[in-house]
Amino acid sequence: MAVTFDQAKRCPKCDNPGEQDVVRNGPDYKLYTFICRNEACAWFGTGWVVQRMDDGTIPEREPSREKSFPAIPGMTQEKAIKSLKQTAKDEERGLRGR
Ligand SMILES: [Zn+2]
Repeated sequence: MAVTFDQAKRCPKCDNPGEQDVVRNGPDYKLYTFICRNEACAWFGTGWVVQRMDDGTIPEREPSREKSFPAIPGMTQEKAIKSLKQTAKDEERGLRGR
C-alpha cells in the first residue's frame, strides 16, 4: 500500500509527527526534511527526508535501509557512526570518573 504524506512525516522510530525543516525543490518533486522533537525518542533531533511528487504521491522506499540511515545533508553514515562511538567513549569516561 502506498504511503501518504501524513504517514511519511511521522518519525520512523516513535511514530510522532516530525517538525518540518528544510524543503528542497526537485524537477517534479519536493524533498521535505522532518526532525523528531520527541525527547523520549532515540531519534530526538534526528531528521529524515520525505520525497513528495508534485501529484502528491510518495514514492515507495526500501523500508529498512533508508530508515536506518536517513539522508541528512552533512550527516553521512560515517559521521553518524563516529558520533555514536564518541557517545560511547563519553559514557565510559563518565563511569570511570565516578
Ligand atoms: Zn521519534
